[in-house]
Amino acid sequence: MDTSLLLSVKHLNVKYNLRGFLRFHSLQEKLTLEDVSFAVKKGETLGIVGESGSGKSTLAKAILKLIPVHSGKIIFEHTDLTALTQKQFVPWRKKIQMIFQDPFESLNPRMSVYQILLEPIQIHFKNLSSFQKKRYIFELLNYVQLPKTVIHKHPNEFSGGQRQRICIARALAVKPELLICDEPVSALDVSIQAQIINLLKDLQKSLNMTYLFISHDMALVRHMSNQVAVLQVGKLVEYGSVDEIYKHPKTLYTQKLLDAIPEIF
Ligand code: ADP
Ligand code: MG
Repeated sequence: MDTSLLLSVKHLNVKYNLRGFLRFHSLQEKLTLEDVSFAVKKGETLGIVGESGSGKSTLAKAILKLIPVHSGKIIFEHTDLTALTQKQFVPWRKKIQMIFQDPFESLNPRMSVYQILLEPIQIHFKNLSSFQKKRYIFELLNYVQLPKTVIHKHPNEFSGGQRQRICIARALAVKPELLICDEPVSALDVSIQAQIINLLKDLQKSLNMTYLFISHDMALVRHMSNQVAVLQVGKLVEYGSVDEIYKHPKTLYTQKLLDAIPEIF
């Protein structure tokens, strides 16, 4: 086994339990992810692209054990996560964090930044003193380039970009090995997108994190990724290095996604 692999997904099948008349459809039609396999090396980024509804978020949720897996394996550091109970998964949850498209929805509006960042620290670093916890919160804010003065503010007092920085700080609090970024800048102004993308790139380098970078934006994925996986209605239709996929796309589907990139690239 290649020890530099952090995550390897093998023949993953996921289906949602559909109610009503749809339950009479064959299994084939109900599969949301069908026979998906890929691997991610430590410190690298795998970009996951595909049209809306192709199963990108479903893949993220399956890795985080937020939805059940029908069959297949999700091997993280030599452990098959699909074989673990939710209780057994708890220590792994700390190693895999996620940031979402909408930073506002994922932050509790009633909590201050201090409380938001303290929460994961209380759970995972119980033994720190209050002073150490506070110092750690300032360190996290420093990572995401927010001033110390934000600790007393609430999510609604920030711009979308700043809120995403808070979400990133919260994800970093538990020192994850894998960060799943699901359309992390899609909800942000174009002018802000580059700042967040560059922040994610810098953090990856300084903290040696591995990323799953999910996006429908082919230009962004090219900028972020080492390897790219292309999803089309739940199937992985292409998988390879950025150069292979962008210079020699094998399918018309990938070609069409690439055609949507503005000419300046
Ligand atoms: P993407 O993130 O690529 O836009 P999703 O993973 O969200 O795609 O969705 C993949 C497919 O699964 C879509 O057809 C979507 O309608 C369906 N789906 C997503 N979530 C659910 C759910 N909770 N129950 C049933 N079907 C779902
Ligand atoms: Mg999605």
